[in-house]
Amino acid sequence: MDIAVIGSNMVDLITYVDQMPKAGETLEAPTFQMGCGGKGANQAIAAARTGASVMMLSKVGDDIFAENTLRNFQQNGINTQYVEKVSGVSSGVAPIFVDSSSQNRILIIKGANAHLKPEDIDRAAAELQQCKLIILQLEIPLETVYYAIDFAHRYGIQVILNPAPASKALSLEYACKCDFFMPNETELEILTGMPVANMDQVQAAAHFLLEKGLKNLIVTLGDKGSVWLYGDQIVKVPPCKVNAIDTSGAGDAFIGCFAQHYIHSGNVLEAMQQASLYAAYSVTGKGTQSSYPDQTQFNLFKQ
Ligand code: ADP
Repeated sequence: MDIAVIGSNMVDLITYVDQMPKAGETLEAPTFQMGCGGKGANQAIAAARTGASVMMLSKVGDDIFAENTLRNFQQNGINTQYVEKVSGVSSGVAPIFVDSSSQNRILIIKGANAHLKPEDIDRAAAELQQCKLIILQLEIPLETVYYAIDFAHRYGIQVILNPAPASKALSLEYACKCDFFMPNETELEILTGMPVANMDQVQAAAHFLLEKGLKNLIVTLGDKGSVWLYGDQIVKVPPCKVNAIDTSGAGDAFIGCFAQHYIHSGNVLEAMQQASLYAAYSVTGKGTQSSYPDQTQFNLFKQ
């Protein structure tokens, strides 16, 4: 395996409404759609669709959503040996309501994702040791994230930490042990408590973290592109201009694609440029994983 993603999976339950129901009100909604999501799963799918061999360490619940999630991983060629069922617990689900002006209201029920524990890393140790890179996010218990970072350190495996959703409880000592720390601008703002309204402010917040000892900080900036900071160096990657329809999951697309290109080329800038194109493609379609291109679609887009 090239890459192990140790993280979450969720089932998105999306209801498109004409108007949001008030308390006690029952309304008819025109359409419903179910999709596979969760930051860990999204990043694994993006890495696999761009050509990486990927194993997933994750937990599903004791319900009808579990089979759907497993099938989705398998259809994308992802190794699911360590995607395990937790009995008596629901899968991670995200009921989402989207109204006619594209405003959304989202609830996250972590479900089985809260049960991914350090022992699960020990059980997968033999396979994990063969991986070149581990990708982590914060939709699983922090103790598991820290355990994974220590594990990777012990065996010389590179780590990408996507600090999402942003948590002030995250230990910067652990962030500094990672090879790449990859927040978006909102997460950078929450983690540092500093404003990020313009590029100067983004750089000031980034330097605050770099001074704590971060190795490589890559900040994604939505339609403003992305920036890589290390030491006193700064490298900006401009966005690819597209007609954006739905930007959900763009950050996960960026990270998955970056990981695949980085482990094959060892070139950070080249991996960011590819990731930027891949994420741009993803915002031209609706949904998260459903908007991630496979290699053929991506190659056509790049021509
Ligand atoms: P997140 O999904 O975590 O909020 P961002 O919004 O920062 O992440 O997007 C991740 C990356 O996706 C950006 O760095 C950029 O490369 C690309 N991207 C996002 N929105 C657009 C857009 N409107 N046009 C082109 N590229 C975009």
